[in-house]
Amino acid sequence: MKVVALTGNIGSGKTTVARELERLGAEVIYADELARQARAALAPEICRAFPDACVGGRPDDRRLARRVFADPEARRRLEGMIHPWVRRAVLERLERLAQSANPPELVVLELPLLFETGWNPARDGVLVVAAPEALRARRVAERSGLSLDEFRARDAAQLPQEEKVRRADWVIVNDGDLDALRARVQRWYAEVVREASA
Ligand code: ATP
Repeated sequence: MKVVALTGNIGSGKTTVARELERLGAEVIYADELARQARAALAPEICRAFPDACVGGRPDDRRLARRVFADPEARRRLEGMIHPWVRRAVLERLERLAQSANPPELVVLELPLLFETGWNPARDGVLVVAAPEALRARRVAERSGLSLDEFRARDAAQLPQEEKVRRADWVIVNDGDLDALRARVQRWYAEVVREASA
């Protein structure tokens, strides 16, 4: 069972790549999904710390994001609650998969903030998805209506894409259409899984 981390900047195509890898047979663990579960599981604690970001006793994702965006101390406090929960959940799932009767050949950990947090439980390498900034901005605008300024603010809060590319073991460049992306993912999967089972 190979364990690979998948990361990249906002709008690069991480989730699209992850879905294609799932279709090819990989098991994908989504950190964002686990973070959502963490916010629900830790609601009482989060709402005690950030009452103005909660509605009806539950954290509201947009309010919470707005609350911590410009306040590094608040962000650290929130991450201090959520990250340990997510990390434990990732390690438990990896352990369960490794112990299962039929472990998958490849487990992919989709960790958007892999390099920023410095936590990398993927022993077999890091796959970075990269795309030109203008394309990422356009795709994100089409998907969620994010303005160019909002896109730039979020992108600037992450490690620059070229730095991620430098630290990657593999890079998939997402500068064509969806068919081109899927073809690149299929090539990468064949390479990595063939190598794993050789
Ligand atoms: P985020 O960091 O915001 O979660 P992401 O890196 O996971 O984004 P995706 O959600 O996979 O990126 O892609 C962003 C948007 O761009 C999606 O709507 C997706 O369908 C679209 N997209 C991704 N790659 C391509 C492509 N090659 N051609 C056209 N659209 C694309």
